[in-house]
Amino acid sequence: MPRVRSDHPPLAGIASRQRPRRAILATADRRRLCRDLPCYRLILLCELEEFASLRRAMGVTRARLLMDDVAARLVAALPDLRARPAGPNLLELGYDCTSPVAGPSILDRVRVAIAAPFDLDGEPYRLSLRIGGVGVAAADADEVQMIEAAEQALVDARQMQADVLRDLIDPAAGDDPIQLMRELPGAIAEGQIFLQYQPKVRVRQQKVVSAEALVRWRHPTRGLILPGAFIEAAERSNIIGTLTLWIIRRAIADQRTLAAQGYDIPIFINISGVLLSDTGFVRDACALVAAGGAKIGFEITETAVIRDPESAIANLRTFADIGVPLAIDDYGAGLSSLAYLKRLPASELKIDKLFVTQLTSSNRDPLIVRSTIDLAHALDMEVTAEGVETPAALALLGVMGCDMVQGFLISRPVEFAAFQTFLAEDRHLAAMVSPRMTFLRNEGQWKTA
Ligand code: C2E
Ligand code: CA
Ligand code: CA
Repeated sequence: MPRVRSDHPPLAGIASRQRPRRAILATADRRRLCRDLPCYRLILLCELEEFASLRRAMGVTRARLLMDDVAARLVAALPDLRARPAGPNLLELGYDCTSPVAGPSILDRVRVAIAAPFDLDGEPYRLSLRIGGVGVAAADADEVQMIEAAEQALVDARQMQADVLRDLIDPAAGDDPIQLMRELPGAIAEGQIFLQYQPKVRVRQQKVVSAEALVRWRHPTRGLILPGAFIEAAERSNIIGTLTLWIIRRAIADQRTLAAQGYDIPIFINISGVLLSDTGFVRDACALVAAGGAKIGFEITETAVIRDPESAIANLRTFADIGVPLAIDDYGAGLSSLAYLKRLPASELKIDKLFVTQLTSSNRDPLIVRSTIDLAHALDMEVTAEGVETPAALALLGVMGCDMVQGFLISRPVEFAAFQTFLAEDRHLAAMVSPRMTFLRNEGQWKTA
């Protein structure tokens, strides 16, 4: 993670980086205090994307001035904004507003201000910023902590390819699953839940053959929340059924849009184990998929089946009977049983990323992956390796006969619009071309070894 330079002048209003005495105020008091006065402080770290290619195209000196142009544009649009450089392609912004609710609208105003093209030596050029930010009651503002939290938000924003704004006013509440579950039904209704898509690519044909839908929550004050922070709680509180039905509806609509554009690939949805023995959910999900006119598949874990095998297997048959392809997720990570594996009506087995990310650095994992591929093929299933992050892993998987790959090397999960662009521009090919040459050349050697 690039550290923010600490030798630049402090933001106005923040006198030093020494930790100030923390105001002892209850959260409710802090929120009340914040109602009218400009006492909610935001720090946003804005990173200019594709900086390396800009620097190559325009030269180091001109590229260094780019952030000045961005800062000037932003300060003109938001006069109360404090801006200072924090690196060659990084700008730190400070803003004081009256309440946490104002945070997302400031972020929007920054985005709008940047949207119009910049004049790069006579050429109009749209710059793209990735933003990670935090907000906190001014009474609690500790600059060092805020910058560290903003840096982490920026790291998450890069990974998610989506801006992240976190509310530190009551960080504990962000981790409180009960509070999150109270908010989840409203979040679904208000459009805060959305899906990102990650392609699965068939290795031999070098074609995108399906995609996995991954749920995210864009929380108005806590920023982006990943499924790891709320799926388990949703499973415990029964909201998982409502959430998953919403996800199925959304994925059906998106799949139909893709099909109309000539990309008729199935979209796979993760189905929690608890739902596999919920007859009401199974009935509703089948009705949605049957009426949806879209190619939808489900990913389920084997552990979920082992919990209540008879009803899970019966329900999986119901899905398979209406033409829903099933993939066994996270294979190798949890409980595995050959007896059940044989009985599952699944057409795909996904090797857990735990084994794939270590593939080229461990002695044991290639053996596990190789034998899993052979086992799946013997059971008439295709194999997907998830967590493919490097060309070396892709090359080795190709040699091992793995059918499909999914992972950051090909694409991170991206929002629907970006996924459409990814498909239209065949972006997966960039990751596929060179490794293919390597593993095709080595294939004969591997087989005779
Ligand atoms: P999963 O089903 O195993 O999903 C794959 C996870 O691996 C995703 O994390 C994805 O972002 C991440 N990933 C993809 N490629 C790579 C890679 O190359 N390297 C590494 N290190 N990671 C990679 P995410 O989106 O945070 O999802 C985490 C888990 O949350 C999922 O694991 C799934 O179990 C659950 N989940 C996500 N969406 C849903 C949903 O709609 N419903 C349910 N029930 N669970 C979901
Ligand atoms: Ca999955
Ligand atoms: Ca998985």
